[in-house]
Amino acid sequence: MTFHIITLFPEMFDSYLKESILGRAIEDKKIKIKFYNPRDFTKDRNRRIDRKPYGGGPGMVIEALPVIKAIEKTKGKKKAKIIFLSPSGKQFDNNYAKKTEKNYSDIIIICGRYEGVDARVKKAFKMEDVSVGDYVLTGGELPAMVIIDCVSRQIEGVLGDFNSLEESRVASSEVYTRPEVFEYRNKKYKVPKVLLSGDHKKIEKWKKIHK
Ligand code: SAH
Repeated sequence: MTFHIITLFPEMFDSYLKESILGRAIEDKKIKIKFYNPRDFTKDRNRRIDRKPYGGGPGMVIEALPVIKAIEKTKGKKKAKIIFLSPSGKQFDNNYAKKTEKNYSDIIIICGRYEGVDARVKKAFKMEDVSVGDYVLTGGELPAMVIIDCVSRQIEGVLGDFNSLEESRVASSEVYTRPEVFEYRNKKYKVPKVLLSGDHKKIEKWKKIHK
């Protein structure tokens, strides 16, 4: 899976993608992440891409053409899905991640900033408005990382053990590790007995209740 990220701030991705599971997935070539900065696609002397909105209002809007040219640069990818990040888009969830992983080899994600991107970008290419939640952030970089993270863990071999994929097994939101008992301010904290019982049937049942 290759993610093509269109962003004014590619460096925001560095530390998150470098570490842990995603870092390893990139190293192992299970996923690939490419960046395209709309600033590299403007003829403006100062590489300026944000302008005042038509119709008035606060904030700035990112010009359409530099974004369109950035998308063009990702092309040649037959099966690319284009995601236009927007707080009012379709809600992203596990199911969306799963379907996207199954049906596409390339995902293009357009990260807005300020008041967003000139809407004509959406006329030039077929794409889908997607939101990561019912709140407004300052830009699309975090949402893009949410999508990269969630889609990547659906890819076989990205999670150390494919069985780690929560959706495909009984997973509890309540988890415990050693030690079995610890003391804090004169109170003892114990691991639920059933988890130490070795009785897998009982353990599965407990996990189902503590989802
Ligand atoms: N005035 C705009 C808000 C822009 S927020 C509006 O009401 O739509 C700036 C950019 O951050 C957006 O263009 C989008 O790319 C990104 N963004 C902010 N919140 C988001 C969310 N919940 N989901 C996806 N993208 C989001």
